[in-house]
Amino acid sequence: MKLRDSLTDVDVSLALCAQTAPEFYFPEGTAGSITRQSLNAKALCFECPIISSCFESAMETNWLEDWGIWGATTRHERADMRRKPFLLKEHRENIREALRAQQIEGEAA
Ligand code: SF4
Repeated sequence: MKLRDSLTDVDVSLALCAQTAPEFYFPEGTAGSITRQSLNAKALCFECPIISSCFESAMETNWLEDWGIWGATTRHERADMRRKPFLLKEHRENIREALRAQQIEGEAA
């Protein structure tokens, strides 16, 4: 599992990345390959029930291993969001929408 100890407020067993290969969230290879892997990982993050805690924890702690995909963001995207509040606000809204969609899907199931 790749999750960090700082994620104490959620059930980390729900993390979708814990159910996949951790390296999926630390893409390597050529630029095209990295982009493709990142997009796939971020798409899965938006289906993850703990995305909000994961993302906020990554933003708050500026984790030492700031590399990789956390809460549907890359290291560079998180750096941009630290400098540009409108990007942070936009991502938080995307997370809220994703969680609403998960809730609707859960109710329909
Ligand atoms: S949001 Fe993404 S990186 Fe965070 S726990 Fe969920 S699947 Fe893992």
